[in-house]
Amino acid sequence: MNCTSQDLQHVWNQYGSIMLTAHVSPDGDAIGSLLTLYHWLKTQGKHVVIVIDDDIDDKFNFLEDVNAIQKPAAVQTDDTWLSVVLDATSSDRCGKVAALMKGKVVNIDHHISNEHFADWELVRPDMAATGEILTELFQQWGAVMTAPMADALYMAIATDCGFFKFSNTTGHTLRMAASLVDNGARPNIISEHLEAQSLIKLRALSEVLKHIELFAGNTVAGISFTPDVLKHTGEHTGGYIDYARNVKGVDVAFTVKYISDTETRVSLRSKSIDVNAIAATFGGGGHVRAAGCTIAAPLAKAKKMLVKEIIRDK
Ligand code: 5GP
Ligand code: MN
Repeated sequence: MNCTSQDLQHVWNQYGSIMLTAHVSPDGDAIGSLLTLYHWLKTQGKHVVIVIDDDIDDKFNFLEDVNAIQKPAAVQTDDTWLSVVLDATSSDRCGKVAALMKGKVVNIDHHISNEHFADWELVRPDMAATGEILTELFQQWGAVMTAPMADALYMAIATDCGFFKFSNTTGHTLRMAASLVDNGARPNIISEHLEAQSLIKLRALSEVLKHIELFAGNTVAGISFTPDVLKHTGEHTGGYIDYARNVKGVDVAFTVKYISDTETRVSLRSKSIDVNAIAATFGGGGHVRAAGCTIAAPLAKAKKMLVKEIIRDK
């Protein structure tokens, strides 16, 4: 059951040491939400660490304190620590950080597929981003919103709703974003940093675009990140799915990425069908219009299984 903003304040008051974490392959919402809560909890006199079981894309380097994010091997906790899981549906989604959650756990999240695993939770699938939930919480707590916090939260919200273009954008999303701009968030600087691409990355994009395939009467578009394509792009392939999504007439976009000969990582986006349901058939989850999963099969087979499942649902 969801706790209130006051309940959460009581929870913070009980703890001196707090570990913050989010899902593997952290996106703008995960990073922005983590950095903001980190900043604020430190002003409350807490000993706070941020741990992510993954590399952080260097496009986030412009954010204050991004260097504070540590890998699980560098951190030790015990059962007197509070763990706060942001933007993730389960402790498993945090990879090796799950083993550091030795005491009580708070979960603040907006995924429809949330597994309700925490001791205290605030799960709001009606919100476009975890950053949107946090913005409201900070208002309810009467927190001082500094400009770096506002930048990080604005980025969190904007990246999860396609810069206010996706169907999860509500009046509340825009009101929260507006309040952040009033407190010093810089929409132009944030999009410049996130959109800036090195020439190497732009050339990688031209390679990726060659690999867009269409299915189901051109209503489904997919990109395969084979080891050969990954040589061009590197491991951070998160942004490319939007190019498949933007192909005219396409309703469902997906990427399949080589992890190993027996494991394939999948991302899904849609304009009308429920891709959370598709991801769930493979043990994943996410949102109705953006979801992901890992399929225990080689890439070519995983792609076939996925396309079959998408077409069944259309
Ligand atoms: P992405 O495609 O950007 O990795 O993920 C899209 C959305 O689905 C994100 O909100 C992400 O947290 C969620 N998601 C991706 N993969 C998984 C998964 O394996 N399990 C669950 N529960 N959610 C996922
Ligand atoms: Mn999110």
